[in-house]
Amino acid sequence: MKIIMLGAPGAGKGTQAIRIAERYRIPHVSTGDIFRSNIKGGTELGKKAKDYIDKGQLVPDELTIGMLLDRISQPDCEGGYVLDGFPRTIPQAESLKEALEKRGERIDLALDIEVPDSHIVRRMGGRRACPKCGATYHLEFAPPEKEGLCDRCGSELITRSDDKAETVQGRLDVYHRQTYPLISYYREEGILREIDGTKTPDEVFSALEALLSEV
Ligand code: AMP
Repeated sequence: MKIIMLGAPGAGKGTQAIRIAERYRIPHVSTGDIFRSNIKGGTELGKKAKDYIDKGQLVPDELTIGMLLDRISQPDCEGGYVLDGFPRTIPQAESLKEALEKRGERIDLALDIEVPDSHIVRRMGGRRACPKCGATYHLEFAPPEKEGLCDRCGSELITRSDDKAETVQGRLDVYHRQTYPLISYYREEGILREIDGTKTPDEVFSALEALLSEV
């Protein structure tokens, strides 16, 4: 099963992608996580991506597309995957489609988690992330069991620099300008499914499971 998660930053894509990956035993492929691990590891790619990420802008397609295609050609992705944060532009979607077509494959579903901007701004203020395993939490809606610590690996949680209030509005603007057109793109492809993302994480996950069971 090959799944794409769509939705504004802060809509809950990452949280739901992790749950889908666990439930269906497929890798969770997050381009944001791959960039962050490259930044942490001091790689060339990380150095090139850092400024864009810190400013809440998209990393250029030339850097992003190759990195993602490389990741999904790894053996663990053979049985499918859930893409979280990719594609974010039409050229990324086109490149993915082309690369898959060459192998006789296609994306099964694009799941759009819909949340109005006003909710997003409130949500992102409370977001915390694990710098080690990539799990995400929310102080109000999905707190970790032990305050400030990751449930999965015990590491100390952080506020990502791009979740800081001043960057959030900019990321939403980028989303509407560059990523939102993907909704129509996948609707035309006939694989878009829309989910109300204002519900609790459990309710959103149940709705997603219902959609996925139809594939
Ligand atoms: P995320 O963790 O998905 O919110 O991604 C964090 C940041 O990484 C984004 O704000 C972008 O700067 C960058 N990024 C992640 N995925 C992509 C992508 N597909 N295209 C361009 N930039 C991306």
